[in-house]
Amino acid sequence: MAQQAETFKKLVSHCKEYGFIYQSSEIYDSLAAVYDYGPYGVLLKNNIKEYWWKSMVQMHENIVGIDAAIFMHPTTWKASGHVDAFNDPLIDNKDSKRRYRVDHLIEEHCEKIEAKIQKEVEKAKKKFGDAFDEAQFRATNPRVLERQAEIDKVMYRLARVMEAGDLNGMKAMIDELDIKDPETGSANWTEPRQFNLMFSTQLGNIAGEEGKLYLRPETAQGIFVNFLNVQKTTRQKIPFGIAQIGKAFRNEIVARQFIFRMREFEQMEMQFFVQPGKEMEWYEYWKAKRLKWHLALGHPATKLRFHDHDNLAHYANAAADIEFEFPFGFKELEGIHSRTDFDLTEHQKYSGKKMQYFDPELNENYVPYVVETSIGCDRMFLATMSHALVDEIVPDAEGKDSERTVLKLHPALAPIKCAVLPLLKNKEELTSKARTIFDNLKFAFNTQYDDKDAIGRRYRRQDAIGTPYCVTVDFETLEDNTVTIRERDSLVQERIPIDKIEQIVRERVEMKNLLQ
Ligand code: ATP
Repeated sequence: MAQQAETFKKLVSHCKEYGFIYQSSEIYDSLAAVYDYGPYGVLLKNNIKEYWWKSMVQMHENIVGIDAAIFMHPTTWKASGHVDAFNDPLIDNKDSKRRYRVDHLIEEHCEKIEAKIQKEVEKAKKKFGDAFDEAQFRATNPRVLERQAEIDKVMYRLARVMEAGDLNGMKAMIDELDIKDPETGSANWTEPRQFNLMFSTQLGNIAGEEGKLYLRPETAQGIFVNFLNVQKTTRQKIPFGIAQIGKAFRNEIVARQFIFRMREFEQMEMQFFVQPGKEMEWYEYWKAKRLKWHLALGHPATKLRFHDHDNLAHYANAAADIEFEFPFGFKELEGIHSRTDFDLTEHQKYSGKKMQYFDPELNENYVPYVVETSIGCDRMFLATMSHALVDEIVPDAEGKDSERTVLKLHPALAPIKCAVLPLLKNKEELTSKARTIFDNLKFAFNTQYDDKDAIGRRYRRQDAIGTPYCVTVDFETLEDNTVTIRERDSLVQERIPIDKIEQIVRERVEMKNLLQ
């Protein structure tokens, strides 16, 4: 646990030190749960978005993109259920004055039981050595079974009280499970209450409730209200999808864990419109497809898992999360939801406009069903960074062990693809040659020129921001037009002609490699 906390702390400070992420309004002591992306952060984030967009829109003839406005007619949020039901149950501790989400407190209680199970497993592993069969141990050890049954019971009960919005039931659970304030240990709780997560603002020319607008809490509704516009203007036939990347806003009560839970964040969502009755088929299809998207980045399968929902949102008939093992444990990274015809039917009801599709094959009108894939770009950023950031021992120029921090990003995601480094700063013939190489390469991809400090330090700087290739210009370059190209992960250095640099780097960093 302490080790995980240390890893996470290191990740957060790396993000700041190397210009990936800063706290918002830092000079004013920051704004909680709001972050700014720095020079390398924005490049990495754009690459993540490009990977998602291309794999959705470019790779599917039947998926098109839109970019809807953040502000929407306020009735949208009545229809979608967000005004009445987009709530989190919160509870205050009277002694510490801290506020928590009831469901999170109960989940953390279960995580503690899970940690005890894990301890038993570790103990047995040590005792039995190679012969140890974890699955069998978990299925037969009485103490583990007892604890697992306790977790299942609590989680089942939590799902029921959450589904029913039963605040008394939630309080009863907090009391019966003897849950205390994680910071102070106090059990002096208020009654829980529901808290709406939408931010609101006011139109300039209309006073009062009439002029109340919301900052969208999800991008999906911009897709639903445009369903017919898009279908008619692109003449798509069902099944087809609409994809969108954009900002969403939620007034999260407990906003911590860095960019995992933010108040302003970015979503990459795709709504796939299908014939009623076919949604389960497509739900399974998108679950598999999305998992593959993550695996293509080189994230190990052991760091990703599905979690099927017991506690379904008001609009869904099936839902699963793709969870990623962040430094603070397995948490939701992406949601795949079968949203039925709930949203389109609601918009039809509230707007009085038909949201139907005429299916030429069936020769009938219907309101399509929807399967959505929804991933937070910032969470994907965090997952990517936490997997890529590695401390390792490598041989230095003299072959001695030296420690380096390296960001092993997939080359297609790396902010800078290639760095051009003259061996010495104060030799004009080297710097001007390096400048010429840089000036040519910058047409092809993000390239950086760096002549400050010793070469070893410059390599380390590029390692820390994940640059897959460094090109060094030395005296030999002046004689034969060759350079040394160094590969980030293997540290292999090769001598290549200058006119080969672009091709070599391009082949490795192309988005095509990921899409294939
Ligand atoms: P959680 O249970 O963690 O609050 P959620 O189930 O409410 O998430 P969805 O409404 O399904 O999330 O949103 C889809 C995706 O948007 C999530 O999988 C996540 O990646 C991202 N997301 C949601 N809320 C936030 C947030 N506050 N900060 C950053 N990303 C978020």
